Amino acid sequence: MIHMEKRDDGVYNCAECDFMRTYDYGKKIYCCDHANRTDDMGKLGVGDLPDGRPEWCPLREK
Ligand code: SF4
Repeated sequence: MIHMEKRDDGVYNCAECDFMRTYDYGKKIYCCDHANRTDDMGKLGVGDLPDGRPEWCPLREK
């Protein structure tokens, strides 16, 4: 029997994250609004929101 472990890593996905904001300036701009983000702009994507989350995601804990 395979034991399924719940893993924290990979749980967070910008598309489903409460900190994700979408702005529409003709093109859709996707940004992270988390106060602890280390990326100045927090820009996630322009036009498309990439799958997953960036390296600098503040919800990554290592
Ligand atoms: S970078 Fe992390 S905190 Fe920011 S929107 Fe994506 S999953 Fe949420």
